[in-house]
Amino acid sequence: MKFGGTSVADIDHIRRVARHVRREATSGHQVAVVVSAMAGNTNQLVAWTRDMAPLHDAREYDTVVAAGEQVTAGLLAIALQDLGVDARSWLGWQVPIRTDAAHGAARITDIDTATLEERLSRGQVAVVAGFQGVGPDNRIATLGRGGSDTSAVALAAAIGADRCDIYTDIDGVYTTDPRVVDTARRLDRLSHEEMLEMASLGAKVLQVRSVELAMVQGVRTFVRSSFDDPDQTAPDGANASVGTLICDEDEIMEKSVVTGIAYSRDEAQISLRRVADKPGVAAAVFGPLAEANINVDMIVQNVSEDGTLTDLTFTVTNADYERACKVIEESREQVGYEVMQGSTGVAKVSVIGVGMRSHAGVAAECFQALAAEKINIRAITTSEIKISVLIDADHTNLAVRTLHSLYGLDKN
Ligand code: ADP
Ligand code: ASP
Ligand code: MG
Repeated sequence: MKFGGTSVADIDHIRRVARHVRREATSGHQVAVVVSAMAGNTNQLVAWTRDMAPLHDAREYDTVVAAGEQVTAGLLAIALQDLGVDARSWLGWQVPIRTDAAHGAARITDIDTATLEERLSRGQVAVVAGFQGVGPDNRIATLGRGGSDTSAVALAAAIGADRCDIYTDIDGVYTTDPRVVDTARRLDRLSHEEMLEMASLGAKVLQVRSVELAMVQGVRTFVRSSFDDPDQTAPDGANASVGTLICDEDEIMEKSVVTGIAYSRDEAQISLRRVADKPGVAAAVFGPLAEANINVDMIVQNVSEDGTLTDLTFTVTNADYERACKVIEESREQVGYEVMQGSTGVAKVSVIGVGMRSHAGVAAECFQALAAEKINIRAITTSEIKISVLIDADHTNLAVRTLHSLYGLDKN
């Protein structure tokens, strides 16, 4: 069972979480619980490290930002004990959950579950602090924002859990963000591939790495609400209650062409005008960006008519925008472009569905519908199961709503 920040936002919420855990424990399940920090707490901790020094030691950042989960793990253990449920808290290093050395965005390398499993078999509930592990340097390492989802899936895989229930502030995964489209529909089932695309293309709900891990390790992940009355839910959650099961594609009977729409406003566009159209130019642009650890997402390059000059457009995250501009300016001579233009006022809207593999025309319909709303498309990328378009950020909600209706996703 994993509980996110809004589910453990204060004492009353943690008490309700304890009742969810008690329900599962008293119905005979062995239960490991992963908790996030109280909502907003991690943001505050991150802000403090930045206020102290904008550029700081990533190991000390981890020491600070991992603190929120220590608080909620302890509080939930107390709440459970208060209900008469045997429970104890575990910090990452106590389990231990081992990670690589990438402080701030560490990957879990190994979980030693021997002690934990011994306690579970005695009926003790394990309350594990999410988002954290211990690095090869023996220091606390965090898994990147939203990382408690990954802690939960990794732990479920390591102990061979039957289920991994992700409790959040919404009762499942929807066709799109319900905050933007009020006719969004909850999906009963969603394939790992589609969830992976939704998460990487902007839908929050699950951290991308947790979905990768669930897919590779075959962990059945069930997204459900912690706001339901804990004692009104049947114990066998995945069968009896409301939520979304993330599963293998062949477990999904009812297949539609498009499953969901995702969006991300965390995009910035950089265009290089009048670049020489010759071998080595793309390498001269993207090589230095890669060296600076800047991820490039969409790339569009035109073929020039006479083989002399062309335009090159690409996107990076908002956070990397300033740095990317600087890197490109520095390699100006090598690249040989005339002007660089950039904008952070852009958004990426994506249409996702495994049905696209075998269905032609999805992209054409998308472009027509956006054109009918006078939404200009700045760049396009596609894969087998998704289409993404880059548009002006001001049009994000309109584009999401338009595409949601276009593909018949609105609830009746
Ligand atoms: P937690 O704190 O439990 O980890 P998150 O805030 O990370 O929760 O994720 C849940 C939120 O994700 C929801 O409140 C919802 O607004 C947002 N969200 C975005 N896209 C979707 C979607 N397609 N389906 C469900 N929720 C979505
Ligand atoms: N507390 C961490 C964060 O806010 C991890 C998580 O909530 O999953 O990013
Ligand atoms: Mg989350």
